[in-house]
Amino acid sequence: MADAVVPCDVPGTVFRPGAVDVSEGRVMRVGPVSSLRGSTGEGVREIAVEGALLPGLVNTHCHSPMTLFRGTGENLPLLRWLREVLWPREAHLTDEDVYWGMTLAAEELLCFGVTTTCEMYFAQDALADAVVAAGSRALITPAVLQLTETDQGAPWWSEAIASIGDFSDRRDGEAGRIEVGFGPHAAYTVPLPGLIEAAEEAQRRNALFHLHLAETEREDDAFVAEHGGTVTEVLADNGVFDGRVLAAHSIWLSERDLDIYADRDVAVAHCPQSNAKLASGMAPLMGLMSRGVRVGLGTDGPASNNDLDLWEEIRLAAMMARLREGDAAALPAAAALDLATRGAGLSLGRPDLGVLAPGSRADMIAVSLDDPAFVPLLDDSMLVEHLVWSASSRLVTDVWVGGVPVVSDRHCLTVDGAHARSEVESRARRLASVSS
Ligand SMILES: [Zn+2]
Repeated sequence: MADAVVPCDVPGTVFRPGAVDVSEGRVMRVGPVSSLRGSTGEGVREIAVEGALLPGLVNTHCHSPMTLFRGTGENLPLLRWLREVLWPREAHLTDEDVYWGMTLAAEELLCFGVTTTCEMYFAQDALADAVVAAGSRALITPAVLQLTETDQGAPWWSEAIASIGDFSDRRDGEAGRIEVGFGPHAAYTVPLPGLIEAAEEAQRRNALFHLHLAETEREDDAFVAEHGGTVTEVLADNGVFDGRVLAAHSIWLSERDLDIYADRDVAVAHCPQSNAKLASGMAPLMGLMSRGVRVGLGTDGPASNNDLDLWEEIRLAAMMARLREGDAAALPAAAALDLATRGAGLSLGRPDLGVLAPGSRADMIAVSLDDPAFVPLLDDSMLVEHLVWSASSRLVTDVWVGGVPVVSDRHCLTVDGAHARSEVESRARRLASVSS
């Protein structure tokens, strides 16, 4: 039972007051308090909260363990930042570094009400260990990326793809909170045969294929010269888009590229804050959405944002869409919120995430309404307007993942924050020294 329930469903329903019945990690029923009162049976329990109950937010593009590199390489454009600062440091990462980087991120994410992240990073077992221990949910797409050149017989990407397959065999579905996909970094870092091989393996497993695409303005140049088409055109022609595909950033797309996204059902992880901070560009969000492309919001890594606060992305997505279109009605509040909830789940191919509906995961957040951000509250639609335009992550008080409490009264129950901060501090210092 809650003062309000905002299920983030298609009609934009608001129940004031409302209630959610949860059983075995799933939502059973959602509705006004009157309709659910007395309906609890065996194995069903009722959660009572103050404030508004929403689905947990879904972050569709993240490299969370990069908490280790927060504030590193500031003010560089993307490619120089990657090649001169990040990759040399990442070549020295240990499994324990990734575990602690992810653990610190998990505390931050959960306290902000982000219950699911789609991760692309290295040391996938350590990353999964941290997610399982923190009680959060993740779609882990281990990176296919060569940080240092080595001489070996088989193409380097084949080994990486095989190891992801092995990881998937061992850990996909673990704790009911881990899903495994494939994360070939980008078309400028993984040669076309590697992208095709990763896509074929992902398709064989019906796993998510997650890459960076069209993030910088000149990304197509080498592909046009070598393959005779834009990256999007060539990947589509080679069957790379035939399965579950999530293309992060997707800024520099031609009209034909946009049509290909729609035609091949390529989903987009839209990262407005990272795109702005690195001056990468402003993505054609309304052009994608008007074509019916599935879109979710992502923070990108905490070294290019620099936090994991998806609430900021919601508001920035609406603001940037309005600036780009010159239209104060572009991306209304409910549509902006959808990009971090139901729409984000759909962009991952996960309709059980980001929505409170029968059968969905009982990932929920309570948002305090006892704040100036929610005054005045004249009708239900104003509640959604306030959630987007005047509320923020600071109002998230309680969080559940699969019905299990992980944040209570703004305190993360699953992560020892002081310990995690201390570990990341010392590990970040070591990584900064070995690469300089
Ligand atoms: Zn990224």
